[in-house]
Amino acid sequence: MEKKTCIAMVPCPGHGHLIPLLEFAKLLLRHHSHDFNVAFLIPTVGPPSPSTIAIINTLPSNIHFTFLPPINIQDLHLQSPHPVPQMILTVRHSLPCLKQELSSLSSRTNLVALVLDFFSLDALHLANEFKISSYIAFSSGAAALYFSLSFPKFDESRIFQIRFSFPRTSDVYTAYLSACKKSPLVDGIIVNTFNHLEPEAIRALQQGKELHTPSPSVYPVGPIVAQPKQKSEVDECVAWLNHQPSKSVLYVCFGSGGTLSQEQVNEIAFGLELSGHKFLWVVRVPSEIPNSGYVIGQTEDPIQYLPPGFVNRTKEQGLVVPSWAPQVEILAHGSTGGFLSHCGWNSTLESIVHGVPMIAWPLFAEQRMNAILLTDELRVAVRPQGDEEDGIVKRDEIAKVVKRIMDHSEEGLEMRKRIQDLSDAAAVALSENGSSTKALSCLAHEFLNKSI
Ligand code: UDP
Repeated sequence: MEKKTCIAMVPCPGHGHLIPLLEFAKLLLRHHSHDFNVAFLIPTVGPPSPSTIAIINTLPSNIHFTFLPPINIQDLHLQSPHPVPQMILTVRHSLPCLKQELSSLSSRTNLVALVLDFFSLDALHLANEFKISSYIAFSSGAAALYFSLSFPKFDESRIFQIRFSFPRTSDVYTAYLSACKKSPLVDGIIVNTFNHLEPEAIRALQQGKELHTPSPSVYPVGPIVAQPKQKSEVDECVAWLNHQPSKSVLYVCFGSGGTLSQEQVNEIAFGLELSGHKFLWVVRVPSEIPNSGYVIGQTEDPIQYLPPGFVNRTKEQGLVVPSWAPQVEILAHGSTGGFLSHCGWNSTLESIVHGVPMIAWPLFAEQRMNAILLTDELRVAVRPQGDEEDGIVKRDEIAKVVKRIMDHSEEGLEMRKRIQDLSDAAAVALSENGSSTKALSCLAHEFLNKSI
């Protein structure tokens, strides 16, 4: 019997990386289910979390998945507290098992390509070993990709010595630089964006041969976001939203692992209360490190860190959810009218697709770049100002920005209109003859050519 053409995909830890890669696989198979199977080989730190299992359980049967044996969590704690080296180390420690799985796949299937996350690039040599082509599925936008491809040049000329947040000798800088240097070596880069959203960055990438040699093809196939699930049993957040007026609720969430200091958590609580607007807030245990819950999840109950009496006082005004909420279902719900977000790329795209204006509150990584795109270029978000002395965004400022997007003011309505226009443009990009569908089809042909 003829073996089915198979593509192996290797995400790195973190929902912000796993979710878009799974959604990319689903999109590819929605258009090309007769041509391919996809096999996910997932490096892990400890057993998969309930939210990971819930995500995996919804996969269609032509996407196979294997959790690679968990690596020793102590190795990560000892070596670095930052998610970038942690993600890279997790993949690095998983390489022997990954090689075994690829070997098994290549004996059972017609394995043609390895699709890696930017932070899984330590596995790139395996594509050469198995004589298959290699791709990156880049989990942020075209501007961030351009920045990453240019970074080795900046590093050589030392332009970023002052501006980059980490010293040149730090493990974060070294890990990021090494991924940037490997990126041009792949056959192609899949990027989750669309022409209307980032026209200049996409053009620069497609024309930017001088940036890096060799120069892989770039496929802007987005926006790829999860579809809201039609659940038979209604989730607590959705049930609560069902009872709220249209576009009345501000959704507050800092991605899959963003964290704030105790003082900042208190100010958000008081600011939301002061605004008088309805809210649905995903709360985390406070931390001085903004991404402490990213790779290694939190186990404590975060509600106990809210100001005393807050939950009781605001029970008519808001809903507080510990650690995780069904974000896509919330953003797609008609009662949601705004999103206070850390501007992770997936959250950004999900808000755009569902036409929800934002309060941009970037915390780490390329989120500041995304925030500038949303506030200055696209003008679909407002950005709160931190206090000049301690950087904390105070309650009055929070209440002010909440009102700016949630009140029916001219400014709020204009932002809503602009993000709705972007949402419409996203739908066009993904339509039958849209730019992203065409890019996806080019990519599928590439995969198929390799299989002959
Ligand atoms: N997410 C979710 N519920 C939560 C927090 C996050 O479903 O309570 C999902 C969100 O919809 C998005 C992803 O997790 O798809 C977060 O990715 P993003 O790029 O926004 O941020 P990151 O987690 O990488 O910082």
